[in-house]
Amino acid sequence: MNDSNPSKATYSLTIGHLYPELLNLYGDRGNILCMEQRCRWRGIEAHTVGFRLNDNIDFSQLDIILIGGGSDREQLLVCNRLKEIRQDFAAYVENGGVVLAICGGYQLLGHHYKMGEETIEGLHLIDLTTERGEGRLIGNLIIQSRQFATPLVGFENHGGRTYLGQGLKPLGYVLYGNGNNGKDGGEGVLYKNLVGTYLHGPLLPKNPHLCDYLLSAALRNRYGDSAGELAPLDDKEELAANASIVDRFIK
Ligand code: GLN
Repeated sequence: MNDSNPSKATYSLTIGHLYPELLNLYGDRGNILCMEQRCRWRGIEAHTVGFRLNDNIDFSQLDIILIGGGSDREQLLVCNRLKEIRQDFAAYVENGGVVLAICGGYQLLGHHYKMGEETIEGLHLIDLTTERGEGRLIGNLIIQSRQFATPLVGFENHGGRTYLGQGLKPLGYVLYGNGNNGKDGGEGVLYKNLVGTYLHGPLLPKNPHLCDYLLSAALRNRYGDSAGELAPLDDKEELAANASIVDRFIK
């Protein structure tokens, strides 16, 4: 090994999975397997710590946080605990910590999720609100993000409609499906290194470009800019899966 070009094996990422026993719908855990595997293929160590509701979380040990989708009932169970971790979670995000929050987990990052009589208070980490609308928004979802040439694909299934506060940018714009609220064309949110989205699926296996975007940000944070340059992988199959969805619904 050339000393001036250290192996990526010296790099190690820790992924924190928040409340998998409650928030883990439609294969959200597959996102973790995908992140771990894409690290391993490059000789980067990666391991995942699952946190149960009452576990303490040392955010300084985490490089990536995944918070998945859940039913309204499960979101209610989680929301009280969120108040207790709010400050540390906010500091993690403001310092550039990587977060992937999906559907129910995405909604919980905002101020609240109004469900008729009942309101779930969120983390207030980002300026967004969610309200239950009439009927559920279900189906394939394809978006174009400014960050990538290749669209992001997945499917959505949510009753809540999310509205971003001024100054926040969506993760992308809907090419097919509903996205945040079915009205303004926006889907998800991208704030610093936090990605919130309604894309289930799991999301990352069919969108390797997004997976690498998150891994690269996490490596940069922990080890400096040059660590974020990832060796390319052969993504033929992943991109064919992505393209087959785009072709089916758009072209
Ligand atoms: N319970 C939320 C809603 O229906 C989130 C659902 C989900 O995570 N798929 O809007």
